[in-house]
Amino acid sequence: HNLAFQDLGFDACYTRYLLENGEKLKETFFTLGLKGINITVPHKEHAYNACDVLDPFAKKVGAVNTIVEKEGKLYGYNTDAPGFLKAISEFKEVKTVLFLGAGGTAQSTSTILRDEGYKVTLLNRSSPRLEKYKKEGFKTFTFDDFIPNTYDLIINMTSAGLEDDSLPAPKEILDGVIPKTKACVDVIYGKETPFLKLAKTHAKPTKDGSDMLLYQGIIAFDYFTDHTYTFDAIKDHMQKAFSL
Ligand code: NDP
Repeated sequence: HNLAFQDLGFDACYTRYLLENGEKLKETFFTLGLKGINITVPHKEHAYNACDVLDPFAKKVGAVNTIVEKEGKLYGYNTDAPGFLKAISEFKEVKTVLFLGAGGTAQSTSTILRDEGYKVTLLNRSSPRLEKYKKEGFKTFTFDDFIPNTYDLIINMTSAGLEDDSLPAPKEILDGVIPKTKACVDVIYGKETPFLKLAKTHAKPTKDGSDMLLYQGIIAFDYFTDHTYTFDAIKDHMQKAFSL
């Protein structure tokens, strides 16, 4: 963000703040005299509650990761899911998607994919988190009751492989579905996960979570700067940060 602010000549500074109590988000925003913020885990629901005006998609998923202040009111958006959607849009003719994992990241991304006409199936290690998805009409499985199908894309939505060498699902399951998929995607960025390594052994195209991270940032930047620049202009400057 700072690189893009500087390069584009926008007078702003992006920094971090540790919010201990999510209930105090709104008060803290005004006390610090901010104009815009990104909110990350575990405060995305508090951010949702703090807003005066919600973007329809943020309202639908109940999670806000970007807030902008205008005339004393807080406007809330979710840029995670549109960023993710743009990141996977390079894969063409995709209709069916298998999500490995059913946590916070899967929540907004499964909704946007469904809104866009994709058919999303969720496979999770345990059943509690799947209940919500089941109620919303998604097809869900645990490792124990999984009935494999053919999926155009398989996406690791878990933190498996982030700080360890684990796969997001048992290897037997993955070896059964990966050969029939078009590509494998991971939301983890900055390293090649065991999941993406396994996908490569099956000669599948892979993609990590860097573009998802970049694109949610670009969309947030667009809100922060009130649509002053094009997506590509922001991208040109912001993506340089990855190679610093
Ligand atoms: P959550 O803690 O909300 O969800 C974790 C999910 O992962 C659950 O479904 C959990 O299953 C599953 N899981 C965790 N560890 C394992 C494991 N060892 N084996 C199998 N399943 C496992 O996490 P988030 O949704 O917040 O984040 C998920 C990932 O997304 C993280 O790695 C994060 O870094 C990444 N991320 C990337 C972004 C980007 O911009 N690229 C943005 C946001 C997140 P169970 O229900 O059984 O516990």
